[in-house]
Amino acid sequence: MLVIDVFTCYGVAGAGSLVGMGLISQIRTDQNRVRGALDLYRWAFCCLSALLWVVLSPDDWRPLVTQVAVGFAAAGVTLLAWAFRQLNGRRTPPRLGWALTAVAAVVLWGMAAFGSDTAYVQAIAWVFAVVSLAMAVDQGWLILRSPRIQRSELSLLIVAAVFALIWAITLAHVMSEAGGPYPAHWLHAPDWLLPITALGFAILPLSVAAVVFAIINQRLNQQLRNRALSDDLTGALSRRGLRELGERMLSMQAHQPTSVAVLMMDVDHFKAVNDGHGHQVGDDVLRQITQLTRERLRDDALLARYGGEEFTVLLPVRSHLEASAVAERLRQMLALTPCETRGGPVSITVSIGVAFHRTDGTLEDALARADACLYEAKQAGRNRVVTARPEA
Ligand code: GH3
Ligand code: MG
Ligand code: MG
Repeated sequence: MLVIDVFTCYGVAGAGSLVGMGLISQIRTDQNRVRGALDLYRWAFCCLSALLWVVLSPDDWRPLVTQVAVGFAAAGVTLLAWAFRQLNGRRTPPRLGWALTAVAAVVLWGMAAFGSDTAYVQAIAWVFAVVSLAMAVDQGWLILRSPRIQRSELSLLIVAAVFALIWAITLAHVMSEAGGPYPAHWLHAPDWLLPITALGFAILPLSVAAVVFAIINQRLNQQLRNRALSDDLTGALSRRGLRELGERMLSMQAHQPTSVAVLMMDVDHFKAVNDGHGHQVGDDVLRQITQLTRERLRDDALLARYGGEEFTVLLPVRSHLEASAVAERLRQMLALTPCETRGGPVSITVSIGVAFHRTDGTLEDALARADACLYEAKQAGRNRVVTARPEA
């Protein structure tokens, strides 16, 4: 049988909490919500590090130090649960959060100092079991609702679920064998579970810190990727986004009866808008064009800002006529809807070139053909749609 000294585990848990605090402090993020969650994790680890005092203090101080440290540990676990919620995007009113934390700490400390041993041991088991179960359920709920399961989120669920399971078994044991005698370390569990409980306590802070680090790292990566794929000014796809998502659309359409139409759309005489109203109004016009166009397109269409005042639409269509009709509707709508800008309404028109992706060709080829049609539309007087011949 594995022999583990519970006091040593308290020491490891305390030291691990300090390391966890250090790890969490290394994370930089510009999202307020995540920063709030990180602050809570830091407070949680700070409270959990109180367990270290139990080991570092002289033996004859122990009853008092242990009582206070267990109070802090209860506060630490409550803060952990709050931090879980905050990281998952659910708000707890700060007053409620701090009040629950204080209640958990004071109840455990008060029962340790003044209550009977039975009541104290039961209180520890109840507080830790309920809070750790809440953490596991919260994390499980988040994973159930997310469209794609992330490995880091799943790891946090496993950590929380193991912790909750240990405390559920401990609670069952405490309730069935109440009355003591109780060990000096106050950790009450069936003999076979005691080493695992102690070890769980010791490993929890480090595993939580490491997994939270991984989760935030993964979210920052996602954020960076989203930023790289979209255009700053309008929120439409960037050129890189168009290439990545466009290639994916083409490969998915390869096995469908539909084909993909490419629309190149350029604002007519846009330089005159800038010259007449200023660049900021010009920027507003570009944002409005993006919004108006996005609203008119189906959800499966891709809209990108290809360059300055030039936009690209990729659209699965059943026929070439359908693509021309979509382009014509867009042109008319933009010609008839003045753009709302900070300098008042500004009317614009657009020219559109339409071409089709060929199964043996690349996206770049189709873009070049749509661009040639756009050039023709400009030459022919602007504010019109030119569609490539199907075989062209
Ligand atoms: P055409 O009908 O031939 O397309 O004429 P145009 O004036 O639209 O074309 P041109 O290529 O001469 O001018 C494009 C203008 O778009 C010039 C540039 O200042 C402006 N532009 C490019 N990017 C931005 C931007 O991000 N914001 C603003 N406000 N203007 C931009
Ligand atoms: Mg233009
Ligand atoms: Mg242009």
